[in-house]
Amino acid sequence: MPSPATLTIDLNALAANFHTLQAVGGAPVHPVVKADSYGLGAAACATRLAAEGARTFFVSRSAEGEALRQALGGGPVIYVLDGCLTGHAGRLAAADLRPVLNTAAQLAEWRAANGGPSGLQIDTGMNRLGFRVEDAPEPFEGLELVLSHLACADAPDEPMNARQRDAFATAALRYPGTVRSFANSGGAFLGPDYAFDALRPGICLYGGGPEGRPDPRIRAVATVEAEVLQVRDVPAGESVGYSQGFRADAPVRIATCAAGYADGLLRSYSPRGEVFVGGELRPILGRVSMDVCAVDVSGLDVSVGDRVELYGPNRMIDDAATAAGTISYELLTSITTRVPRLYVG
Ligand SMILES: *Cc1c(COP(=O)(O)O)cnc(C)c1O
Repeated sequence: MPSPATLTIDLNALAANFHTLQAVGGAPVHPVVKADSYGLGAAACATRLAAEGARTFFVSRSAEGEALRQALGGGPVIYVLDGCLTGHAGRLAAADLRPVLNTAAQLAEWRAANGGPSGLQIDTGMNRLGFRVEDAPEPFEGLELVLSHLACADAPDEPMNARQRDAFATAALRYPGTVRSFANSGGAFLGPDYAFDALRPGICLYGGGPEGRPDPRIRAVATVEAEVLQVRDVPAGESVGYSQGFRADAPVRIATCAAGYADGLLRSYSPRGEVFVGGELRPILGRVSMDVCAVDVSGLDVSVGDRVELYGPNRMIDDAATAAGTISYELLTSITTRVPRLYVG
């Protein structure tokens, strides 16, 4: 019997998105599998992506890199975006991980440890991680990859995109022979002059659109479903849920479903969220609770044990995220370990 709430991950859709990104972006995809592949399971996702031809991966934390090395074994290149944190050089080298060096102190620590190959991040305006262009180091032994990150890749008309691209192109001239990586998911859709040598997408691999809304080229990967625990008819004049979050002006039929904020159904879904049930989108009524939510199933043939789709192929994750006042990244990474992951494909 499936669990009352489940996360199903379609690995064929993940593979399709990988190939789409390479075709659209015009460069090899180096998948970003940080945060446990945005909550979908880095071991399973990266193993499939490696089978599809991915040779280089990005994680954020050293520990994520160590776990990924265990999962993938020797061979694939793994970069750690945090870089070489104080005291981490030995760990990174032991797991054959490459830091993306962000500061002079990180560079010094890595070189002092004779750490081996590494990458370098140049900050071209986001002011987050990496060397400022004017502070970028001389080329150094073992430097294999240079990257920079777009601040507004989800907004194709934003002039900052071209400014960052040009700054990166110029800065990278200093490091001939290295792999230049610039575009994340959104960047892969900005045109050929954003491709450089390797793309670094995350969210589009996992089913989010490049501009924060569904894109017909990107397939749904994650499906979250919840079981109907109880169906009840609420008379006019009564309320539903905590704080009387919904008041019935007319009689309404409610399905109480096994998904709440402990499953990643954010409380901010109340009161605008919708789920796919009985072949259509139906509103969540009142407040989302910790373990359950109430869905209006008036006029539908819905019974206990049926499953409703919070997001997936019938309710694209970007639309669900917009309804919850957030972005797909946060929806995916807030699914808790209570929700079992089922892999298909
Ligand atoms: C998270 C991240 C990415 C992937 O971004 P998406 O928007 O998910 O495609 C790429 N590069 C860096 C440096 C990142 O931090």
